[in-house]
Amino acid sequence: MIISEKKQSKKLSNNILSLAQAAKKAKDANSKVINATIGMLADEDNFFYTFKAVKAAMNDLDDYRKFSYSDTDGGKRYSQAILQWVFGDSLNDFSKNPLEVIATPGGSGAIGVVFSNYMQKGDKVILPKNMWETYITFAKERECDYLTYDLFNESDRFNFDSVKDCLDSLKHQDTTVLVINDPCQNPTGFCLSDSEYDKLVELLNGYSNNIVLLMDMAYFDFYSANGALIRKRYAKLVNLNRNILTVFAFSGSKTFGLYGLRIGAAIAMNKEGKEVELFKNAAEYFARSYWSSSSTLGINLIEELVLNEEYQKMFKDELRVMSSTLEQRAQVFLEESEKCGLTLLPFERGFFVCVPTHDPVGLMNALHEDDCYVVVTKTCIRIALCAISIEEARKLPQIIKRRMEKGVF
Ligand code: PLP
Repeated sequence: MIISEKKQSKKLSNNILSLAQAAKKAKDANSKVINATIGMLADEDNFFYTFKAVKAAMNDLDDYRKFSYSDTDGGKRYSQAILQWVFGDSLNDFSKNPLEVIATPGGSGAIGVVFSNYMQKGDKVILPKNMWETYITFAKERECDYLTYDLFNESDRFNFDSVKDCLDSLKHQDTTVLVINDPCQNPTGFCLSDSEYDKLVELLNGYSNNIVLLMDMAYFDFYSANGALIRKRYAKLVNLNRNILTVFAFSGSKTFGLYGLRIGAAIAMNKEGKEVELFKNAAEYFARSYWSSSSTLGINLIEELVLNEEYQKMFKDELRVMSSTLEQRAQVFLEESEKCGLTLLPFERGFFVCVPTHDPVGLMNALHEDDCYVVVTKTCIRIALCAISIEEARKLPQIIKRRMEKGVF
């Protein structure tokens, strides 16, 4: 073989993007199919949702702002737009610490930048046990491994003891990357509370070794119709010590519905200006060697949606409506699950909810007989509430429960 042995073993499995394509085909052929596979927002008629503000802003862009090359870091205006959007009214609190921004192809690009620049071959990254399993692909591709922390303690709250065990066991690494996906954790919909953020800062400040806290904020804009809540919560991280670098991984896919454009950002925060400057330099170098520059159209759309007041208002209004639709789907799904006795993992808000089972793949496949499509994690099936209507959310728990009883899943 021309390709090395190491590379020959590389093949994606359980790829959500492929499973979603198959489910879409089934739905196109039969409108009764429930396609709860992928994390893309759909409207109540099951159509892929595009924000009107996004379309309007796109019409305003000339060809240069759509198709020319962008700066590798996304440029000053993009940085300004990202900081303004991501930190909102809490920007002054965040700005107590030096901040640096780089444009990335989605939140995925931001995660890639962190894994590549802060992990050495053979290092372990700390991931939640219930997780978006693509993190593992990111680690393996970089010849790194991972440790997992239990997401929940016996009271179904964030398991600090388990995170502490992981951090303690990796003190020998030069730097340890800890991934927290909050709020609206994928796949569970778990969210840390205000006091858990205080406790997180306290825990991390108890370490003197180098830690990178990778805050995967992919779904943060769907936490609440009141966006200030989560931004204030994040602002608690300003109090982390100088041996802790926080990197926020922002996803333009989820917030603005720009999934296929591949646009996002990595925002670095630390008490030392030099630390974030070095983050930026290394991130730009990495970007140039992997993807060169991010989508110009994505960058300019986000700039318009944030810095043009008219579009910003229009977008925020739509986001509020879609957030509350998502909440209604979740509420109905939870109510119906309770009625029929379907067990779920602890859920607060978000795109997804999880049903634990000892045979996720068997259950996922069996559900095809009920015209229902979901995806799996190691211990659960995951239902994408973002992709189904309120009426489908009402039906689905009973369908799943019946199928579980029938097949002993
Ligand atoms: N983080 C989580 C938890 C996700 O679920 C996803 C996408 O599904 C991402 C990050 C990255 O998304 P993107 O690269 O499209 O921004």
